Amino acid sequence: PVSVVWLRRDLRLHDNAALYHALTSGRKVIVLFIFDRLILNQLDDRADQRVEYIHTEILDLHAQLRRLGSSMVVRYGEPILVWQQLLSEFPVEEVFANRDYEVYAKERDQAVSGLLAEHGIAFQAYKDQAIFDHDEILTGSNTPYTVFTPYSRKWLDKLNTFYLKSYPTERYFDAFLPLDEQPVIGLEAMDFKPAQKPFPGKTVSDSLLKHYQQTRDFPAQKGTSELSLHLRFGTISIRELARQAQAASATYLNELCWRDFYFQVLHHFPHVERESFRREYDAIPWRNNEAEFEKWCNGQTGYPLVDAGMRQLNESGWMHNRVRMVVASFLCKHLLIDWRWGEAYFAKKLRDYDLSANNGGWQWAAGTGTDAAPYFRVFNPTEQAKKFDPKGEYIRRWVPEYNSLGYVRPIVDHAMARQRAIDTYRTTLKGE
Ligand code: FAD
Repeated sequence: PVSVVWLRRDLRLHDNAALYHALTSGRKVIVLFIFDRLILNQLDDRADQRVEYIHTEILDLHAQLRRLGSSMVVRYGEPILVWQQLLSEFPVEEVFANRDYEVYAKERDQAVSGLLAEHGIAFQAYKDQAIFDHDEILTGSNTPYTVFTPYSRKWLDKLNTFYLKSYPTERYFDAFLPLDEQPVIGLEAMDFKPAQKPFPGKTVSDSLLKHYQQTRDFPAQKGTSELSLHLRFGTISIRELARQAQAASATYLNELCWRDFYFQVLHHFPHVERESFRREYDAIPWRNNEAEFEKWCNGQTGYPLVDAGMRQLNESGWMHNRVRMVVASFLCKHLLIDWRWGEAYFAKKLRDYDLSANNGGWQWAAGTGTDAAPYFRVFNPTEQAKKFDPKGEYIRRWVPEYNSLGYVRPIVDHAMARQRAIDTYRTTLKGE
């Protein structure tokens, strides 16, 4: 009999909760990864950076396990069908995985655990992605928080060395099942190809963290960690990172708290995946002008900070947080386009795309979510540029034609758009 650890968005062997529990289960352990055909089929870019990144990391894990005298079982297909097949190949007795908070993932895990139960096999799920999840941080009346600041206070209060301890998986590596080398499907065989863009490094220096509070809002600088891709796929450990942050930067630690916050919003309020957190905002009569949406997507709005951000996204798959806030606000407020359109565009393009953080960010910008700013507060993209890119360095990097005759004129007048947004929100919320 063997234990299987099923890796999903936790692609590492060190400090991994599910792996630790599998390795200490008293049985030999098989490491499994499934390229989920249902997810891959929805992607329309054949050079999707995320698929390439996962594939690269799987090859690396495969090689690491090879050096440990084992191998990695890598399959491609629909998870439930893959599992049916696996059960006929291996004498599986227990399955270990780390929890995921997205609706699709929860349904998938439920289906697989149902199948396993039919065979008398237990499915054990662990917290690994988040520092606190589910009901670990609740209000005094045992309800989930819907506002960040009190949530973060409780989160910080509760944070201690126990929750940030690493799982010492290395001590138990002799429990991997000796296996012949298992095949790994190529990217091309799944109809993908490399994007050939560099991936960011997996570490952040203490010196960047020390200056983080001063540098993080200036997109021309390398003032943020760019670890989001690694946090998304679990190629680094959130506990290790939080320990480093604890010692170096309260502001950075607070960002990791936002990450947990949005995981728990999605877990407790799964309707946010399709609807506004505050449902009354779903009555807003969005203009949804397709030509304007296309200009926004292509970075052709005539607002240089918005255009720079969208071009950075299109070209690199990443956008600085300050600029994400500005472009999102511009789409929802200045153009009155449904936040879900922007959310979906980001989901396609962001290499660090994460449903909970992306949804949280979009609903925040549209004012429909938790922590909603009053609707009459509308970002001024020109003022934001002056404040956060005072020398125009970031703008010129992505919009080289800026300040020349070749640069497009603004597609909408700021003062008019601001008033239109305020009037539309006000009328809707008053039910007029
Ligand atoms: P750093 O500033 O170095 O922060 C460190 C880590 O903290 C990040 O990697 C991230 O994991 C976490 N973090 C920081 N800010 C937030 C936040 N506001 N919410 C949740 N976690 C946060 N982040 C994603 O990881 N995936 C997304 O799909 C995503 N979509 C967003 C959409 C919008 C409209 C907005 C406004 C924000 C979005 N964010 C998203 C949050 C934030 O912009 C990114 O996490 C950040 O820019 C990633 O760069 P970094 O690793 O250098 O961040």
